[in-house]
Amino acid sequence: MPELPEVEITARRLDAALRGAQIESALAPGINALKTFDPPLSDLAGRAITGVGRRGKQLVVEVAGDLVLLVHLMSAGRLQLFDKRAGPRDRTSRLLVRLADGRELRLREFGTKQAAWVKLLRADELDDEEMIATLGPEAWPQPPANLRELLDAPRPLHSMLRDQRVIAGIGRSWVDEILWTARLSPFKRGDDLDDDEAAALAAAIATILDAALEHYERVVTLPIPDKLPMPLQIHRRAGEPCPRCGAPIEAVHYEDYVMCYCPTEQTAGKVLKDRRLSRLLK
Ligand SMILES: [Zn+2]
Repeated sequence: MPELPEVEITARRLDAALRGAQIESALAPGINALKTFDPPLSDLAGRAITGVGRRGKQLVVEVAGDLVLLVHLMSAGRLQLFDKRAGPRDRTSRLLVRLADGRELRLREFGTKQAAWVKLLRADELDDEEMIATLGPEAWPQPPANLRELLDAPRPLHSMLRDQRVIAGIGRSWVDEILWTARLSPFKRGDDLDDDEAAALAAAIATILDAALEHYERVVTLPIPDKLPMPLQIHRRAGEPCPRCGAPIEAVHYEDYVMCYCPTEQTAGKVLKDRRLSRLLK
């Protein structure tokens, strides 16, 4: 589930490795992950990659001649750089960018869903692209100074912090870590935050995302692993002792994810398992 730290480390590693690399050809095999047709993918041939960056949870590969590849990994995609080309049996590939030096940049997707996508855009179209234009301010390197105003709505924090239109970069994994660090209930409403709580939340966003990136700087190397070693303490740790107070971590299960929290420190001892309440979070 790539979120801001996972996408940021991917962008850093690819940027360092790909600047100046010449593209020989590009293709989108199998079911088409490519969501645009003009300019055509063949326009990439013969051009150089000039940089790789990140916007929210999306990757932006910049190409000479004012072209950009916008890549959304969704829940199970990876953008990886290999020394050799994929064999014909590789069914995980959604996009292959073959480089003149023999390397290959590959968008791969694991699991049964095919959701990851790519758009080839002219550079001046990027900011108008819906997934970019609707992004809220970036959660990192500095949480937005107006965080409290951004969250000033009658919606649970767990939902608002994952809403890319409110704040960009946080998803289902890191939201659990952030709320636990700030000792805030996932169900607390954004418009219920007082000054101290808003300050604790901003500090937790910075601490958690910084620590994740420092960890990835130490352990993540190319080609970018299929499974990133996420340094999570709370998320997906239901039943284990809270690292701070020792109480068992509780979980609320949803259709396609799980929310974890410490009842002692975050919900005044309340264990939240009510499915009707659960639905409010979606
Ligand atoms: Zn605890």
